[in-house]
Amino acid sequence: MESVLELKDVSYAYPGHNAPAIEALSVGFPAHSFTAIVGPSGGGKSTVLKLLAGLIPPQTGEMHTDGRISMVFQSGALLPWKTAEENVALGLMNAGFSEHEQFAKARAALGEVGMAQFARELPRDLSGGQRQRVGIARALVTDPDILLMDEPFSALDVETAERLHREVLSLWQRRSLTVILVSHSLEEAVLLAQSVLVMKAGSLKKFVPVTLPYPRHLETRTMHIANEIRLLIHERDRV
Ligand code: ADP
Ligand code: MG
Repeated sequence: MESVLELKDVSYAYPGHNAPAIEALSVGFPAHSFTAIVGPSGGGKSTVLKLLAGLIPPQTGEMHTDGRISMVFQSGALLPWKTAEENVALGLMNAGFSEHEQFAKARAALGEVGMAQFARELPRDLSGGQRQRVGIARALVTDPDILLMDEPFSALDVETAERLHREVLSLWQRRSLTVILVSHSLEEAVLLAQSVLVMKAGSLKKFVPVTLPYPRHLETRTMHIANEIRLLIHERDRV
């Protein structure tokens, strides 16, 4: 299948650091696929998303992207002095829409994540799950083809995270998105993604396809796959 995002032999070292955060990474993401990236902290997961989002440039290698990209951050990353709809409308800044159009689109995006009635609320009056819904609405308002998510559910309680899992799966299918989710929960990765990339020390260590049908639940098969990945992550690198 054709990739909408592709990295070829990409390396990246942060300014002032000798050790590269990403080293000679090659990976492609097929159109309309759902991929999870997992691995130990510091392994380069967020750096890969930043490269894909164009927030930092590859220093070596090539990158190819085809489509509009949006990013969802941990816990929404909302401006505290702006209402939900103002935060979502920020996603459209510089897109050339009138203020009226911006707010109409913002309200439609809030409606899509079940937040229409909270459009005028400030972030401090919303729950963690509601704030993350606003963060997702802000990503959707530009009508993206590709949704990048960096640990978007890790600050939420289990029940709220599960509800948002179902909604993200439904958005993925309804909008035919290509989704790349960074997660520190292997169970979450296996419940949501069609393939799980295991990253360690800036390299791709393993590609694990997950072919189970949706909706998935935590049961023997999903827990088995998550545990296999856990063993891979904790396995000491052989010298
Ligand atoms: P992960 O998301 O898997 O935890 P990161 O991509 O954030 O990993 O980090 C990869 C490596 O790059 C780590 O060694 C980390 O310390 C380093 N790093 C990340 N962000 C920065 C930064 N802004 N400046 C310098 N080093 C960074
Ligand atoms: Mg990270």
